[in-house]
Amino acid sequence: MHQIAIYPGTFDPITNGHLDIIKRAARIFDSVIVAVAINTSKTPLFSTKEREELIREAVKNISGVEVESFSGLIVNYCHQRGASALIRGLRAVSDFEYEFQMALLNRKIGKDVESVFLMPKEKYTYLSSSMIKEIAEFGGDVTSFVPDHVRIELIKKFDIKEKE
Ligand code: ADP
Repeated sequence: MHQIAIYPGTFDPITNGHLDIIKRAARIFDSVIVAVAINTSKTPLFSTKEREELIREAVKNISGVEVESFSGLIVNYCHQRGASALIRGLRAVSDFEYEFQMALLNRKIGKDVESVFLMPKEKYTYLSSSMIKEIAEFGGDVTSFVPDHVRIELIKKFDIKEKE
């Protein structure tokens, strides 16, 4: 059977940590849908379209990976797309509490969707989109944290913001 997994997140923007998780998931599942969350309580730096495009460019050489956006309950979206697994990345113990709660809630509302947790390479465990935005905003070098096209778009974004 064709096993589909969905990797949901804000991806504002995609980092090398997210990419590491996508590659691991792509090795296990027949297809992986990276799903950009449209309505989150967060106000993203990049629009949904921009976040999707940045991911699309980053995953273009990984086979079996698609990029989409979604709104509403993630388990409903999993049902719609016929996905049996929900991928989440675990960086440190600090991620655990929130992820554990979400996984149990998702199981309550979508019994046939299994949450699967993957750990990135150690060197990515301290990476987060918010840290990277902060570094980029203050002119720091994010070369080793994000793909190069993302680094360029970050610089552009903060240049525009500065001129506003
Ligand atoms: P969300 O708003 O859903 O937390 P994120 O884009 O911040 O969206 O993260 C999406 C998923 O990727 C989450 O499961 C998060 O724990 C995981 N993740 C984020 N950064 C990393 C990283 N550096 N390494 C591994 N997983 C990560």
